[in-house]
Amino acid sequence: MNDYDSVDILKGVGAKSKALFLKCNVNNIKDLGDYYPRTYESFLEPTTFSKMKLGERCAVSVKVHSRMVVRPARRLKLCLIDMVDSEGTINEICWFNMPFLANVFNINQQYVIVGEVTKRGTKLTINHPKYYTLEEYESLKGSFQPVYPLTEGLSNNLVVKSIKQLEGYFKAKKEYLDDDFLKSNDMMRLSDAYINMHFPGSLDTLILARNRIVFHEFFKFLMSLNRLKESNLKTPNNFNIKEDARVHKFITNLPYDLTRAQKETYEDILSDITGKYTMNRLVQGDVGSGKTVVALLALLTVILSGYQGAMMAPTEVLARQHYKKLKDILKPYGINVSLLTGSVKGAERKEVLNSIATHDTDLIIGTHALIQESVKYNNLALVVTDEQHRFGVKQRERFINKGNSPHVLIMSATPIPRTLAMMLFGDMDISVMDEKPANRLPIKNCVVGVGYRKASYKFMHDEINKGHQCYVICPMVCESDNSDAEDVISYSETLKDEIPNANIAYLHGKMKEEDKNSVLSSFAKGEVDILVSTTVVEVGIDVPNATFIMIENAERFGLAQLHQLRGRVGRGDSQSYAVFMYGKEDEHIKERLNVLADSNDGFYIAKKDLELRGPGDFFGIRQSGIMNFKVGDIYQDGKLLSLADKKLKDMIAEGVDLSKYKELDIPKDIELAI
Ligand code: ADP
Ligand code: MG
Repeated sequence: MNDYDSVDILKGVGAKSKALFLKCNVNNIKDLGDYYPRTYESFLEPTTFSKMKLGERCAVSVKVHSRMVVRPARRLKLCLIDMVDSEGTINEICWFNMPFLANVFNINQQYVIVGEVTKRGTKLTINHPKYYTLEEYESLKGSFQPVYPLTEGLSNNLVVKSIKQLEGYFKAKKEYLDDDFLKSNDMMRLSDAYINMHFPGSLDTLILARNRIVFHEFFKFLMSLNRLKESNLKTPNNFNIKEDARVHKFITNLPYDLTRAQKETYEDILSDITGKYTMNRLVQGDVGSGKTVVALLALLTVILSGYQGAMMAPTEVLARQHYKKLKDILKPYGINVSLLTGSVKGAERKEVLNSIATHDTDLIIGTHALIQESVKYNNLALVVTDEQHRFGVKQRERFINKGNSPHVLIMSATPIPRTLAMMLFGDMDISVMDEKPANRLPIKNCVVGVGYRKASYKFMHDEINKGHQCYVICPMVCESDNSDAEDVISYSETLKDEIPNANIAYLHGKMKEEDKNSVLSSFAKGEVDILVSTTVVEVGIDVPNATFIMIENAERFGLAQLHQLRGRVGRGDSQSYAVFMYGKEDEHIKERLNVLADSNDGFYIAKKDLELRGPGDFFGIRQSGIMNFKVGDIYQDGKLLSLADKKLKDMIAEGVDLSKYKELDIPKDIELAI
């Protein structure tokens, strides 16, 4: 069996399953081997109702005590059955929309039910548990069963059966680490790690397997970075860019003074682009530190020297925001700005493409559309990417090929500690903007339960009366059967009754681009008072008049994400407020959210988040999704990253020929994103 064999060579995988695997980005045997479980189901010793703890997963051994009662609620059918445990405690267990279970559960039959413990009124219960007969459960006890990410039609069972057939393939993986290293670092062999990652014998072997797979991911990433560095680092500067007095005039004319950090960063950039080699620089600055204007100064300098510049944003909404702002600012300099996104179509697109090719356009702002085949630049000298965490090695190469190796500037609000950043961005120079504009008052935060909602509305109302605007963030788009989390559509309806004279609009990712754009532009113009939104506003949206943000079901988000969301306010000189509202009463949740109340500093929050997550948490909320490692988390696994970095350097210094290990091959089309 080989890496690039199709998955349909496996028993039980036909054309239909192959198509389903393809949907999950599994194209071949290699991808399937790297298709790791999302989590593992463990089969705990059954306990009793009285010993259950809120929020924990629990197994209870029960006997069926009553017949099912079906009760409609909202759009659900609640299917209720009384179950009695070995201590004689009766608890009403609820399944949603599963009336057929009435025929499964006969009085006095014994089952083990498993699920997360939740609160109903004052009592603890398990809603919608999984259920097993005693024999079934006994045979599974103590084991860890993989639970794979799935798509409709693809069953966990099929994935398990398919990956079980890869054992020989896994065993054939060649080891590139020496025995001494493996031993002294308590590291599993690669082949064993693959097998145990999918089918761990115990929690201990799972942890060892995961460590090795994470090491492997990091090692491969660092290797590709190393290759890029060798080929790219000393590319000569192909452009004749000069410092321009008009840029300094522009700075003097800004309505504010640049911060020290902004000035220093611009100096760094200037010395790069006027220097001997091509710039490859990462600017790290917390939300609201004013990265856009620094990018603008860089672009202005390049364009005034007669070249083209491009700025790429992760979403259409953000690209449009930049376009609107920059177009007007740059007009007095005779600079033409064009927008190129997925929704620029037909004749308009043709015209834009043409103006780029003829250099009628000096600055092109857009989304991923900027690196498409059809875009032909004319003397492109600088590419800026904003909040573009998925701008990886591959994209950088595309830009290099599109122009004459343009300078690259990457703006990121992700707080990555310096030691990690030095490894992850090994081929780049880094500027840190560690300062916020002086006019800023620190955001005032509070972490509260839903009981505070009314008070919060009153507060919001007061802010609106002062002429300010507000955000409310909900996790869901619309009402959902299996979730009691707030959703933007019903929420904005309710809010209209609560604050009748406010102008309320909603926004979510499933809306059409043009609708999104029009809602955001009315919000930016101040026509909308309250924007009820999903996390689509998380990245980069800049409406300085917004002073209040309330995040519903805050427990559902990671701290880094909440920090980004909060960064939508506190962008002007008025006092701003952030309310983190939790929908679930739980000490651990409160402790976690309180980190946000303690500090407005992204680096501090990332560090605390890490401390609060115990080692058992490693399949929990992924920190950020910024690096697309499948398993590794740069924060949590920082030590493994350092170890991989050191080992790679040692091996290179010793002259080890790494090219002979196909395990270390990185297909050209893989996106190693930052
Ligand atoms: P981010 O770093 O999050 O991308 P932006 O560049 O969007 O931040 O800037 C946030 C807001 O701060 C913008 O409205 C911008 O005009 C303003 N701003 C930028 N620099 C300064 C400064 N030195 N003083 C005051 N306001 C500034
Ligand atoms: Mg920004």
